[in-house]
Amino acid sequence: MPHVVHELRVLDPATEEVVATVPAATAADVDAAVLRASRAQLRWAALAPGDRARLLRRFAVVVDEHREELARLEVREAGHTIGNARWEAGNVRDLLDYAAGGVERLTGRQIPVAGGLDITLLEPLGVVGVIAPWNFPMPIAAWGAAPALAAGNAVLLKPAETTPLTALRLAELALEAGLPEHLLQVLPGAGPVAGDALVEHPGVAKIVFTGSTSVGKQVLAKGAALLKRVTLELGGKSPNIVFADADIEAAAAAAPMSFLDNSGQDCCARTRILVQRSVYERFLGLLAPAIESVVVGDPSDEATQMGPLISRAQLERVRSYVPAGLPGIRGKAPEGRGFWFPPTVLTDVEPHARVAVEEVFGPVAVVLPFEDEADAVRLANATDYGLAGSIWTRDVGRALRVSGAVRAGNLSVNSHSSVRYWTPFGGFKQSGIGRELGPDALTAFTETKNVFISTEGPAQ
Ligand code: NAD
Repeated sequence: MPHVVHELRVLDPATEEVVATVPAATAADVDAAVLRASRAQLRWAALAPGDRARLLRRFAVVVDEHREELARLEVREAGHTIGNARWEAGNVRDLLDYAAGGVERLTGRQIPVAGGLDITLLEPLGVVGVIAPWNFPMPIAAWGAAPALAAGNAVLLKPAETTPLTALRLAELALEAGLPEHLLQVLPGAGPVAGDALVEHPGVAKIVFTGSTSVGKQVLAKGAALLKRVTLELGGKSPNIVFADADIEAAAAAAPMSFLDNSGQDCCARTRILVQRSVYERFLGLLAPAIESVVVGDPSDEATQMGPLISRAQLERVRSYVPAGLPGIRGKAPEGRGFWFPPTVLTDVEPHARVAVEEVFGPVAVVLPFEDEADAVRLANATDYGLAGSIWTRDVGRALRVSGAVRAGNLSVNSHSSVRYWTPFGGFKQSGIGRELGPDALTAFTETKNVFISTEGPAQ
C-alpha cells in the first residue's frame, strides 16, 4: 500500500519557505478525471481541424501573455534561474504554436492497390496520461500535452510532487484561451498513487513518462498488462568529447554550463568530460577559472547562472556521490538555508566509478583522459545510458565518424545543444523508448487505421 499523501507542500528550494500547499489527487480522482476527459475528447476530436488549430494558437498567445508570471512561479517552486524560467515559459508557447501548425497537416497516405482505394487514417488515441518530472516542469509537460492535444486527444497531466504549480496554472490558461473544459486536466499527487492510477487505468490509452529509469521500467511493466502505449524519457550520463584538434578555448568555455545549467538537474547534462590526453592539462587549466567564476545564488537575480537543487533529498543524493576530499575543481555556492551544492569537477576518478557512470542529477562532472578516437568512443559508450553527447573537433570526417559510433539519441558537434521543439528528441539504451518533439510528434499520439474501399461493386 503506498503511503497516503493528502496534500503536497511546495517549498522554495532557495529559501525552504512553503510556497503553497496543494491537495493531492487520489486514485478515485484519477478515475473521475478519466471519465470527464474521455467525454471531452470525443467533442474535441469532432471539431474541424482548423478550429482545433485556432484554439491551440490562442492558448499559445495566452501563455505568452502570462510568460513572466509563469516564469516567476517556476523560480519559486523549482529554483530555476529567472532567465531559464522565461525561456521555459516561452518554450511552452512555441510548442503549442508548432503543434497547432500540425493539426491541418496530420495526413495519412493513399497506397496503390488493385480493385480499389487504400487509405490510412491517423486517429487520436483517446485519453493520454503525461507524467512529468520536477526538473523541467513546464517544458516537459508541454512536450507531451501540446502534440497530444493537436492530434485530437485529451490529456491528464500528473506533475511531480515538488512542482505542481505551473502545471495547474497552465490548465487555467487553457480554459481562458477557450479550450473545452476537462480536455486538459492536472492531477497533482504522489507518483505511486496518482501516477500509478493513470498507468493502471484502462481508459488511458498512452502514458508519456519522463523521470528516473527505475520508475520508467515499472511504468513500462505495468502498462504492458494492458498493452498500453508507453514512451519513456529517462536518465542520462552524457559525454562531452574534446579532441586535441578542437578549439580548446571554446570547448573549455562551453563545458561548465553544459552540465551546470539547471544545477545539473538535466537529463542531457554533459557530465562525462572526455579529453584527449595530449591537451588534458591545458584543458583543465582553462576549465578551472571557468568553473570558479560561475555565479551561483538567488535564482530571481538576473545575473545568476545556477540556482539551488530542487530538494533536501536531492541534495543528500548529490552529496552521496562526492565524498569530501576528492581531488577536483570546485566553484562557490551560498551557505545556510536552501538546497545548495557548488559546481564540482572531479579529476582523479576511475572510469567505472559510480560517479563516472551513474546519473548524479546535480552540478557534478568527471574529467577522464583518452588516447585516440577508438578509446574516446569506447569510453563514451561505457554507460547504460544513451541520451545525448557532444563532440569537439575541427575534423569533419572525425565528427561524422564519432557521431555514428556514439550510441545516443541527441548529439551535437562543437556545441552542446540537444533540444529544439522542431527536432526529434529521445534516448538509446536505458535512456528511453520512443521519440518526442520534431516533425513526427503528433503522429506518436495517433493510431494508424488502414481502410480499403473496393471499386468492384458489391459482391454478387
Ligand atoms: P521519479 O521517476 O521518481 O519521478 C518522475 C515522475 O514520476 C513524477 O511525477 C513522479 O511523481 C512520478 N512517479 C513516481 N513513482 C511513480 C509510479 N510508481 N507510478 C507512476 N508515476 C510515478 O523521479 P524523481 O524522484 O523526480 O527523480 C529521481 C531521479 O530521476 C533523479 O535524481 C534523476 O536521476 C532522474 N530524473 C530524470 C529526469 C529526466 O528528465 N531524465 C527527470 C527527473 C528525474
